[in-house]
Amino acid sequence: MNDRAGLIQGFKKAVEFYRELGFQYLPVKRSDILNLISGGTTTDDKPEPIIPPHQVAELTPDYYPNKEGALEDLKNEIGACRRCKLSNGRRNIVFGEGKADADIMFIGEGPGRDEDIQARPFVGEAGKLLTNLILKLGLRRQDVYIANIVKCRPPNNRNPEADEITTCVLFVERQIAIINPKVIVCLGKISAQTLLKSSMAISKLRGTFSHYHDIPVMPTFHPAYLLRNPKDKWLTWEDMQKVLEKIKT
Ligand code: URA
Repeated sequence: MNDRAGLIQGFKKAVEFYRELGFQYLPVKRSDILNLISGGTTTDDKPEPIIPPHQVAELTPDYYPNKEGALEDLKNEIGACRRCKLSNGRRNIVFGEGKADADIMFIGEGPGRDEDIQARPFVGEAGKLLTNLILKLGLRRQDVYIANIVKCRPPNNRNPEADEITTCVLFVERQIAIINPKVIVCLGKISAQTLLKSSMAISKLRGTFSHYHDIPVMPTFHPAYLLRNPKDKWLTWEDMQKVLEKIKT
């Protein structure tokens, strides 16, 4: 291992160490990390705020050399989660699935009945629509990554509540940091509003790229909405054409 790779490895271990201790932020200056990457010697006049792990990952694209392993570690960290009240009614945690270094990451709202039973995202009726859409785009489910904002089924498929989202979103954010996709597709209002910190309607958000950190985000309609409103499928088709263009660049 060369010096730089060794440093990054050591840095990664330190991050894990702090995370296990319960730190959400790291006592590290942004300039120190940039220097580590570039070999530079810049120092900040004033101290930078300590930075969260997902920003560390952005600054060091090879921070997660083993993405499958990092996802597996995260899954183990979630464990038999009891961090919010959704855990009371769920059968299974639906972690997410797909290619660990996918170009496209789809993020839905939360598991429904079929997903809760099978512990897999988007496998019910809405999931069939999403799978068909992926196939029509010339891709397969295993070419993309699919996850949700919350990992446990809300009772009676109600919308996840603010406290549940706040507790669980950290995990999908960590999945994003590991996968580092070229584009995120937000399926529906909850996903788009949460990641983009917006209160705009999905009908207004869809069709235009926004950003989650530096990653382009395309909000589009939720497949369950499209099952109820098939006349709007062409709009999601158009949104996905923009996504395909984007991943070429
Ligand atoms: N709806 C979602 O938002 N996610 C799923 O996994 C299934 C249905």
